[in-house]
Amino acid sequence: MRFSFSIYFLILFFNTWAQDCQLNLNIDCDTAKFSFEQYKDSLAFYESFFGKNKDVKIKDEKLKLAFFVALRHFPELKESALKIKLKSISTTMQAQPKWTFIFRAKENRGYQILVNRDSSSNGMYYRDLSFNSLVGWIGHEFAHILDYSKKDNFEMIGFIADYVTSKERMRKVERKADKETIRHGLGIQLLDGVTFFHKNRRVTKEYRERKKNYYLSPEEIIAEIQQNCD
Ligand SMILES: [Zn+2]
Repeated sequence: MRFSFSIYFLILFFNTWAQDCQLNLNIDCDTAKFSFEQYKDSLAFYESFFGKNKDVKIKDEKLKLAFFVALRHFPELKESALKIKLKSISTTMQAQPKWTFIFRAKENRGYQILVNRDSSSNGMYYRDLSFNSLVGWIGHEFAHILDYSKKDNFEMIGFIADYVTSKERMRKVERKADKETIRHGLGIQLLDGVTFFHKNRRVTKEYRERKKNYYLSPEEIIAEIQQNCD
């Protein structure tokens, strides 16, 4: 009797273990939504585990935590010098290398994500986004940074010149960043953010139209998630 119980628990243990492995293998296709309430107690852990070379002095805890939760999906950037700060800019968020990059090797380059501190210019205010959407938007910026990190200084200067002068080039870059965000497991988060953007009546028509031309549509995001996470 005791023997059969041991066998039973052994089978139960291996079943649970196999299920856990299955979950781990599927982590990039995780369709769970992140909620601030669920994660807020983990901020200290995230700061100690992912905080190396990170400059995150913002007071907004939701934005700070979203930065780290998105970063967890970009392990390639774990050691990179990254900063996030609030500033008045013409878009909701943007990622760029620090201007000192021209004097440094790409390995020593620092990057920053600027987040628009107000909504007056285009109607889109980062604080209106859910925590889950915020993770997706920041993930998109990390996808840009990952792309920059592969370019040497010469390529970086050419890239910036192309991006600001060619709409076609800009479209390719933005769509590529969306796809990279999905490949890093933040497809549902990106979809949430983009859907909110399209339904948000406070966003100006011009800004909405501009976005439509350069980024993946919600339908394209869904197709891309299905393609990457079957
Ligand atoms: Zn972008």
